[in-house]
Amino acid sequence: MKIYWPDYCKDFRCKADKCAHTCCAGWVIGIDEESLKRFEKDPYISARLKDGYFVLRDDGRCPFLRDDNLCEMIISRGEDYLCDICREHPRYYNTFDDHIEGGIGLVCEEACRLVLNAKMPFALISDDGSEIELPGYVKAVFDGDVPLTETLSSISGGRRAGSKLRAEIFDGMEVLDPKWSRLLSRVIKDPVSVEEEDKAVLDNEKSFRNFAAYLLYRYKGAGRFASESVYLLADLVIKGCGILDIARVFSCEVEYSDINIDEALETFG
Ligand code: SF4
Repeated sequence: MKIYWPDYCKDFRCKADKCAHTCCAGWVIGIDEESLKRFEKDPYISARLKDGYFVLRDDGRCPFLRDDNLCEMIISRGEDYLCDICREHPRYYNTFDDHIEGGIGLVCEEACRLVLNAKMPFALISDDGSEIELPGYVKAVFDGDVPLTETLSSISGGRRAGSKLRAEIFDGMEVLDPKWSRLLSRVIKDPVSVEEEDKAVLDNEKSFRNFAAYLLYRYKGAGRFASESVYLLADLVIKGCGILDIARVFSCEVEYSDINIDEALETFG
């Protein structure tokens, strides 16, 4: 089936040793069956495998991640030798009856930069250059005639949690890095008013339109989830976080935990 990508994806290049938040540490790296068969025949690789996973070092880094943050496996065996998860990250896919929609996830700092700074609206293009229309729920957030705060109200059916309750809901999920919880506690202890939130959203409108569009595209029109997530990020920006950095942390904590993303989509469904 044909795969369509937001046009900014063509500019994605892994930053490798220039990345400040490498994706090759802190995760359990599960290996697909085909790659596992290949790895098990290779003594250099198989010595660092257990039960279908790479055995991480004590500091949580992949055993093939060198101190200079380059991948030893790519250097010694070439990029084609990688298992699916390493080759594909940070790409994601949504399958429909007649096509697939792909994208790059905000968990990666370079993807985050491209997504939030993308020209609006993005176009959905396949490798052969053909284009399909953006889903209506994505197009809606790019309507520059309507302030983003109004669009968020409309896509969430007028529902909006207060900043304290919203931060408590996210803090009640599985927390991967205690720093996330400490950031949320700033909002819980000193909540942000609706007016302050709206101002922060409008002051950073391009980034937040792109952030909302990314969530709506990736989660097939989950309007309330997108709206609450925009306001959560606005609250954290008010508390001093940089927008790119906090979008990446949000993605890491909420999107890349299967439990958390299911809970968030259900709670804000
Ligand atoms: S997080 Fe992104 S830029 Fe950084 S190493 Fe991983 S894929 Fe590359």
